[in-house]
Amino acid sequence: MNALTLGIEEVKGVGAKRAAVLNEVGIHTLGDLFYYLPRRYLDRSRTLPMARAPIGQEVTLIGHVRQMRFVPGSKPRFVLVVEDETDDIACTFFQGGRYLQRNFEEGDELAISGKVDLFQGRRQMVHPEYEFIRTSEDDLLHTGGIVPLYTSSADMKERGLRNRGFRRMMHGALGAFADQIEDGLPLAMRQRQGLGELGDSLRKVHFPTSMDEVAVARRRLAFGELFDLQLRLARLRKKRLEQPEGIVFSESQKLVPQLLASLPFELTAAQRRVGAEIYADMQSPQIMNRLVQGDVGSGKTLVGLGAIIMAVENGYQAALMAPTEILAEQHYINIKTLVEPMGLTAVFLKGKQRKALRRELLTAIESGVAHIVVGTHALIQEEVHFARLGLAVVDEQHRFGVVQRGALYKKGEKPDLLVMTATPIPRTLALTLYGELEVSVIDELPPGRKPIRTALRAPDRRDAIFEFAGDQVRQGRQVYVVYPLIEESEKMDLKSAVEAYEELCHGYLAEFEVALLHGRLAAEEKAEVMDAFKQNRIQVLVSTTVIEVGVDVPNATVMIIEHAERFGLAQLHQLRGRVGRGGEQSFCILVSYASAGAELSDSRERLEMMERTQDGFEIAEKDLQIRGPGEFFGTRQAGMPEFKVADLIEDENLLQSAREEATRMVAAEA
Ligand code: ADP
Ligand code: MG
Repeated sequence: MNALTLGIEEVKGVGAKRAAVLNEVGIHTLGDLFYYLPRRYLDRSRTLPMARAPIGQEVTLIGHVRQMRFVPGSKPRFVLVVEDETDDIACTFFQGGRYLQRNFEEGDELAISGKVDLFQGRRQMVHPEYEFIRTSEDDLLHTGGIVPLYTSSADMKERGLRNRGFRRMMHGALGAFADQIEDGLPLAMRQRQGLGELGDSLRKVHFPTSMDEVAVARRRLAFGELFDLQLRLARLRKKRLEQPEGIVFSESQKLVPQLLASLPFELTAAQRRVGAEIYADMQSPQIMNRLVQGDVGSGKTLVGLGAIIMAVENGYQAALMAPTEILAEQHYINIKTLVEPMGLTAVFLKGKQRKALRRELLTAIESGVAHIVVGTHALIQEEVHFARLGLAVVDEQHRFGVVQRGALYKKGEKPDLLVMTATPIPRTLALTLYGELEVSVIDELPPGRKPIRTALRAPDRRDAIFEFAGDQVRQGRQVYVVYPLIEESEKMDLKSAVEAYEELCHGYLAEFEVALLHGRLAAEEKAEVMDAFKQNRIQVLVSTTVIEVGVDVPNATVMIIEHAERFGLAQLHQLRGRVGRGGEQSFCILVSYASAGAELSDSRERLEMMERTQDGFEIAEKDLQIRGPGEFFGTRQAGMPEFKVADLIEDENLLQSAREEATRMVAAEA
């Protein structure tokens, strides 16, 4: 029996009512309970006697409530006097006095944390954080000097599961069940990795005798989570590799060489290497499941196209799915231009198309007349049937959920799958998210690209900025201006793209063709604007972030990003990647008041990083650190696993070890 799967009601003192409030916070089983880790710890051995609490510093003090009172006056306040053997301190609250008064009783033992200051010659803390330690002796019996503090919901508090009550319950539960927890990790592995036993680690993470013990126990728990995930991924990988039931394509004799010969440039070494990896996958009887990572402009599309025409040469259809209509259409146009001379038919499927045209396209796809089908998620709609889908390519995949990736895959009879992403995914995340995929990296840009010059400028430099942009246009170049919002919001005083567009048309850029692109335009209008920009009939494109992904206009050399502090680093990097695609020197100007004021130093630090580096991986790592994995990917839809203990940033090395152990275990499995 494994105690972790037992229901929470098995715990002494937990009846139906307590179980219900615990369920609300996701605690259903003993496992859930034991993995509900302390929010923080109070290390009593490190707290100071009050008499020695230094003025002006953040400290934690422990003492008993001696007195409570309301002090009237111009600044009415509630004062709680807390004392220990050495001295006392006044805790002053300007709000919430009524509630607090009901909350405390004289004699309560409290830990208070905050900055100590002097008021009328006495020590005080204003609005300290406080924790109840105990009112009775039994509570701390087994905690040594370190007290775990837990987060409790309002309902939990109501049911006596605030810190103290919760602690008592946890202590009882661990006492009763920790010995009956099965450790899923084999002893040999734990010894190799220097990990403790699971039940013991859980006990120690809740009731440690030192903070070092907490770190060691936590490491065991985090490893377990990472290992479970890696084991699942490793098994998937193994299963796929062991089932030789995918399509065996033969090497392209004709079309790929023909494509390469038609290009005005040579492939980079990285493109060739990744191409070869893909072709080898396609020729093997295993189903391909490969992720191609490459920074913006590294030339992923061509690599994908090589795979596409190889599939077609073998008598199969290929599909390419992109996250936005603009991007899909751009792919379609590029691909069509390249493959039509080869006698291949490419079609474009999107959300809104005329009925007659749509029917025609669907027929072409179903009959196999269409060799290559490019589109948005319209490709995975029910009424789309392929005659013989052999290869599914998904571009910019982090925008799609795992589900959509799978849906496209199901349109064929075990087709090969190629996923391309421009977001340089930090290693830890790649291992976590795509552990079941093979990964290829295009780590080289086509030659002759000049590094983009990036500058951070304050908004009051706008005259100079647009004068510069105008100069570039006069030299025949094109300009992007990007805004974070499309309509003025009352609260945030951001200039909307619409307003800015009006202003630029009549002001700085009046002599040029300026167009506005935003998410609310009809798809046809968007396509028209993009088309005109591609052909240089429009010189300045004012836009919201719809241009972020994949747009390719090599003649554009200036990217002006307004309110740059509003964008994430990865997003800025993507935006910047829209320029620097041709032979001319390109520029990225980040306009932000964060270039000046000290109060925005965080934003400034981020933006200065953009000035400093153009390395997508470095930027992505930093972005991940700043925003955390959830937001980095736009949360759960990307299939981010959630860990209770492990931290993808902190535990990078642990993840690597977990992966190695998982691979080792799976290799040994029959
Ligand atoms: P990505 O999708 O990786 O951002 P693209 O595939 O859109 O990059 O390629 C960016 C641009 O670089 C395109 O205009 C493409 O034609 C061009 N390109 C691709 N490979 C090479 C190469 N080896 N040499 C020169 N230009 C290239
Ligand atoms: Mg691309």
